[in-house]
Amino acid sequence: MIFGAPFDSTCTFRKGTRYGPSGIREASHNFESFMLEYELDLLDIDICDYGDLDVTHLSPSEMVERINGFSKRLVADGKFPLLLGGEHSVSPGCAVAFDDVTVLGIDAHADFYDDFDDDRNNHACAMRRIADKFGKDRVMWIGIRQMGRAEYEAAPKVINSFKIFENGIDWTISEIEKMVGNGRLYISLDIDGIDPAYAPGTGTPVPFGLRPIDVKRIIDHFASRLVGFDIVEVSPPLDNGVTAVLAANILMEVIAAVHLRASEEKKG
Ligand code: MN
Ligand code: MN
Repeated sequence: MIFGAPFDSTCTFRKGTRYGPSGIREASHNFESFMLEYELDLLDIDICDYGDLDVTHLSPSEMVERINGFSKRLVADGKFPLLLGGEHSVSPGCAVAFDDVTVLGIDAHADFYDDFDDDRNNHACAMRRIADKFGKDRVMWIGIRQMGRAEYEAAPKVINSFKIFENGIDWTISEIEKMVGNGRLYISLDIDGIDPAYAPGTGTPVPFGLRPIDVKRIIDHFASRLVGFDIVEVSPPLDNGVTAVLAANILMEVIAAVHLRASEEKKG
């Protein structure tokens, strides 16, 4: 189930992610529903787009609560939540709806402050709130290039962007694998985890980021264990168009890869 959370009021630098869900949906209209690589037509899959939750004018804590209530119902119904942000503060509402998952953040930033601007639901605290529920040993990050010292000392498992370029994506996948094991995985994709050359339309771009193909490799590899996904920090007012297009294509990748792995498993 796709749903949007157009919320950007704790954003520190450049606002605009409230237009993320609609921008990503519009961009998705550019693509054929037939996925060449998988020989699969997305129109043949049961997908529902709920539309957006009415969160734009809520306080950060009300917003998280609203998203969490909605996500819990999806999880209880056995649905796969696909959340479109909004800024990164929307992610905890969805991720903590699960009882037990490993959470992988793909981000230029760790978002691991305990509070920021006197707000524990600020986007800079998103992964910290997720770790509050699952424990620090069940969250990890890849693609990080910017981190405060306090975050660095508090965060246990970070694979920074430079290490990924040095050791390759296969090595990165094997590192993630060690943590996920046979368990279930939730991925929170902050679009600024990808290099600004590919994803310029975001509030706090940072050079030396991941390539889109690296993110796709991770989605493909973990598709059978993936139970939830969010894409956050896409800001259409700052975009030349390609960021929303990339986010839309990643969304399609997640749907196709998860569907294929699930139907393979059914066949045994
Ligand atoms: Mn983030
Ligand atoms: Mn970020």
